[in-house]
Amino acid sequence: MITVQEALAAILERAHPPAPIEVEFRRAHSLVLASDVVAREDLPPGARSAVDGYAVRAQPGPRTLRVVGELTAGHVSDEHVEPDTAMRIMTGGLLPPGAEAVIMVEDTRERDGLVEVEKPARPGENVHPPGQDLVRGQLVLQAGTRLGPAEIGILATVGQTRVSVYPRPRVAVLATGDELVEPEQEPPPGCLRDSNRFALMAAGGEAGGEVVWQGRGRDERAALEALVREAVDAADVLITSGGVSMGTRDLIKPLLAKLGELHFGRIAFKPGKPLTFVTIGRKLAFGLPGFPVSSLVTFEVFVRPALLKLQGLSVVQRPRVTVELERDLRPDRVRLEYQRAVVRWQGPSLRSRAGCLVAAPTRVQTSSRLMSMIGANALLEIQPGEDILPAGSRVPALLTGDLLS
Ligand code: AMP
Ligand code: MG
Repeated sequence: MITVQEALAAILERAHPPAPIEVEFRRAHSLVLASDVVAREDLPPGARSAVDGYAVRAQPGPRTLRVVGELTAGHVSDEHVEPDTAMRIMTGGLLPPGAEAVIMVEDTRERDGLVEVEKPARPGENVHPPGQDLVRGQLVLQAGTRLGPAEIGILATVGQTRVSVYPRPRVAVLATGDELVEPEQEPPPGCLRDSNRFALMAAGGEAGGEVVWQGRGRDERAALEALVREAVDAADVLITSGGVSMGTRDLIKPLLAKLGELHFGRIAFKPGKPLTFVTIGRKLAFGLPGFPVSSLVTFEVFVRPALLKLQGLSVVQRPRVTVELERDLRPDRVRLEYQRAVVRWQGPSLRSRAGCLVAAPTRVQTSSRLMSMIGANALLEIQPGEDILPAGSRVPALLTGDLLS
């Protein structure tokens, strides 16, 4: 059996992003940039008023100035501001020639074309200098950045309306098992509803993949082979569930090994020892175990990082933090175990004066009990051992969801 680190390394060294594509920036949200973006102009291009008020020369004390016009945002004026004149100006307006400062309207009184200014005006006061926000030639977005709302805003700001991004990896999901029925069906004795297919499709989409194929197959060699071939043709990444353990109807492992190159078929990991990883040409195939928790946790720990790497991201792991156990916890004797847990921030207390993250596993952790993932926002990494970890022990955790407080 190989370790979690060895398995992850074997996967990531075979996950390479495909050639970038060019898309319109409006359609680029949540994709990953494949090349740098540079500002082509200063922003603002000239000195701009930060407030509503009067553009004036810098001046020492109170005085009365003649108002020579009004400048609203989006307009310019070539009217020169002199020591005895002022120009009414709105927030965002480009300073007229001669102006060195803006007096806030709150500090003035205007009557009959004259404005009384109480305060002195220091040079540059209430003025955004040119290039304050962006400087021409500045690197604004680096290749490898995922495009969120602020990044989309920056692309619009600099006028970069076409961008080079990595395409979403195409994902196929195949659930296998004679016992499975559709969610709409009433399962006959010995059967249950297929949940893995839908959970894995959602997980694949959430990880940035595009689910282009999905299906369900019986534990029958020829039928499964036909489905796997169809799925691999359609997608970059194949995710199967079930059929990788040691049972007589567990056909997926030999089938994937026949179609491609088997890199591993067992890992020192709980839940999900029989996780199988195969490459078929440039395509990746993951045989996930059938139990619902095993299948989603192995997706989280092994498939998700591969999908992120295929999108051109360099950070593909969840944030790893140290948490304090709220209750005693019994480790597995031989395998590294990833326990589902609720992690929350706990403020300063008698035990922890600085405050810390505390974790409570989501009760019974059997791999069939999907309820152990409901509400969980972390996976605790529990080293194997004979002894109970007492409450208060500190363990590493991967944050898989929003932190509670
Ligand atoms: P397997 O890994 O194929 O031996 O499956 C182990 C167990 O996982 C089965 O006995 C089912 O109880 C459960 N299982 C397998 N596939 C699914 C699925 N698609 N949805 C829900 N449960 C499943
Ligand atoms: Mg099965």
